[in-house]
Amino acid sequence: MANIETAPAEKESPFESMMSRLQVAAQALGLDEEVYNVLKSSSKQVVVSLPVTMDDGSIKVFDGYRVIHSTIMGPSKGGIRYDMEVDLDEVRALAAWMTWKCAVVDIPYGGAKGAVRCNPRTMSPGEIERLTRAYTLAMAEVFGPDKDIPAPDMGTSGREMAWLMDEFSRSRGTTVNAVVTGKPLVLGGSLGRIEATGRGVMVTTLAAMEKLKLNPSQSTCAIQGFGNVGSFAALLLQERGVKVVCISDITGAYHNPKGIDIAKAIEYRDSHNGLLEGFDEAEHIDGEALFGLDVDVLIPAAKGDVITMKNVQNIKAKLIVEGANGPTSANADAIINERGIMVAPDILSNAGGVTVSYFEWVQNRSGYKWTAEEVNRRSDRIMKEAFDNVYNTSQQYNVPMRIAAYIVAIDRVAKTYKFRGRF
Ligand code: NAD
Repeated sequence: MANIETAPAEKESPFESMMSRLQVAAQALGLDEEVYNVLKSSSKQVVVSLPVTMDDGSIKVFDGYRVIHSTIMGPSKGGIRYDMEVDLDEVRALAAWMTWKCAVVDIPYGGAKGAVRCNPRTMSPGEIERLTRAYTLAMAEVFGPDKDIPAPDMGTSGREMAWLMDEFSRSRGTTVNAVVTGKPLVLGGSLGRIEATGRGVMVTTLAAMEKLKLNPSQSTCAIQGFGNVGSFAALLLQERGVKVVCISDITGAYHNPKGIDIAKAIEYRDSHNGLLEGFDEAEHIDGEALFGLDVDVLIPAAKGDVITMKNVQNIKAKLIVEGANGPTSANADAIINERGIMVAPDILSNAGGVTVSYFEWVQNRSGYKWTAEEVNRRSDRIMKEAFDNVYNTSQQYNVPMRIAAYIVAIDRVAKTYKFRGRF
């Protein structure tokens, strides 16, 4: 294919970063320009206006989106976010991201993403429920267990997924629990889903440490973000012998060179409004200082675009495992590669969540519940195989792990596209 310029140097957004890596991987694979053009565009974009009755009786109109990037590999899969800043461009990029993530771990889904532009923190539960039901009804012909399967994302949780499942089921006149994943357990949610992403981060970290000949029981780790992903990754890594010396949240970082008791930190967070503020088993340091600590493994698990040109030179870790989506800018990535630091990229490392979402859908469709042990064993196997495949691809093409992950994903989707044929 023609040589395609990567993202301009000043662009640091996670989405620009993603597109620039996609281009590099497509070039390394020698992908036809024709196929590349199919893969970079979205197959369907739906924009709706949602009039919702607010608690004071007024009617407010919200913008809702659903973008289906690709259904080449199977029904599309992707979360729904409620966020004031969201726009169609962002949803489009996030939908493509889901295609690559599902393809890296080889689960039979395409990629999608949905959003409603709203601020759920200023809305009552009743208003959020009516909004969710209006959105579901507007998307009733888009969603479907064989077509497009949503899940929670920023600003949504199992509660919204329960309303979505109920409203969709009403529109069909029968209970259709496989239309959405991330549901509460009683509605057909899967055991193991809550810890799935952190668990996948743990599996990826251990697999990468093995390649780097880092012995877990003699290694240290710092983790940014102590929410769902960060706290489970910390707990599970500590259980396997890794010394977690620094954790952080929006209140700053907490450092203890002797190792932090993660179970205690979780207990503290859960009894202090979800925050680590005041946690005195570690020294409180500036959140940014976490990136410069002398540790073996660094796990950004908070938010996008945190490793940038501003702090990349301070990093001392030998391994970065991306729990968050898009934590490293494209420019910082180039420096990391130059410095020989291994990066287990987001579309690989945090795919444990979508993998167990897939298991939830499989269980719903077969009407049979798996045990937590079955869920964990199967997701660990998928994550380990995906890691090995990406690692071997990086050796074969002599490219960093991130580009290798895109090569694995694009290659799978492109081959499937060619077999399926076209108009
Ligand atoms: P969460 O809301 O449960 O936790 C986020 C944590 O990050 C909180 O502890 C918060 O205080 C902290 N944080 C926010 N800003 C920070 C900052 N500037 N410095 C330090 N800490 C900060 O979110 P989560 O579900 O754990 O998701 C974290 C990341 O992982 C996001 O990028 C998300 O998109 C990604 N992700 C999550 C899942 C999942 O299953 N939850 C799956 C794939 C990817």
